[in-house]
Amino acid sequence: MQVERVGVVGAGQMGNGIAHVLALAEYDVLMTDISADALSAAMALIDKNMTRQVSKGAISEAQRAIALGRIKTTQTLSDLGQTDLVIEAATERETIKQAIFEDLLPHLKPTTILTSNTSSISITRLASRTDRPEKFMGFHFMNPVPVMQLVELIRGIATDDETFSACYAVVERIGKTAATAEDFPAFIVNRILMPMINEAIYTLYEGVGSVRSIDTSLKLGANHPMGPLELADFIGLDTCLAIMNVLHEGLADTKYRPCPLLTKYVEAGWLGRKTNRGFYDYRGETPVPTR
Ligand code: NAD
Repeated sequence: MQVERVGVVGAGQMGNGIAHVLALAEYDVLMTDISADALSAAMALIDKNMTRQVSKGAISEAQRAIALGRIKTTQTLSDLGQTDLVIEAATERETIKQAIFEDLLPHLKPTTILTSNTSSISITRLASRTDRPEKFMGFHFMNPVPVMQLVELIRGIATDDETFSACYAVVERIGKTAATAEDFPAFIVNRILMPMINEAIYTLYEGVGSVRSIDTSLKLGANHPMGPLELADFIGLDTCLAIMNVLHEGLADTKYRPCPLLTKYVEAGWLGRKTNRGFYDYRGETPVPTR
């Protein structure tokens, strides 16, 4: 199964990065979003990020121009029907993802592989709602996509070998490294990372440390490139909460209980960098802790 045309659903921080790396690897990309603004913002950001790569000498000006030309956008989901592979990267909510696959199914070629970039939702359950659970799997990129080397590949219970091999080949062609994970809540990276971030938020909630002291401790004390609260803002606090809820419900263990302070930030609409405020306030020149 040769993949050449890829559909990307969702043009948010992950969708635009996924379109970026696919286009540079000479795939034809069709990106869709319910928001026209999200699509134009994504194209502008891809252009900006590729221009930065040109200035660093990572790619040539010609590569940038050709790759940009390979990315088309549409607000009509059914336009993705003729692609060989669909990577769904819309908001981390199961009902949204299910509705996207349901709407897409009548328009798909029988051979199209469906994948989700979900950070935590059951691949087997998403697949079971489609007409092709054997051609469905998890394709989990890391943020920021052009920079991070890993892609987690998650097989659902029914995923066949041909589908797995086709996705593995895509990971190789974009020059990234695949790690295979079984389909259990949050897979590998977020099963380990998110409880650490949640614990950092509990540490703040209980007054053990301030935003700055917690981030400084993990950066200088554990050699992490970013502090856990800074990282939470970068990922998006709504996404962090959604993943903790999936772990809590899926594994039925109180150790995954989302911190009430995380819930409060999400309820306030303080979702981190994407809304300019989270554990830090990004509206000024330098980020200022909000607690
Ligand atoms: P985001 O909020 O930046 O973008 C989501 C986009 O989906 C928005 O542009 C929104 O308009 C669009 N959308 C919502 N409903 C849609 C629909 N019905 N059809 C088409 N588009 C729709 O979110 P994100 O951070 O890019 O996350 C997207 C997915 O990637 C989630 O499943 C998330 O768990 C996963 N993910 C996120 C990260 C991260 O660090 N943020 C890392 C790995 C995976």
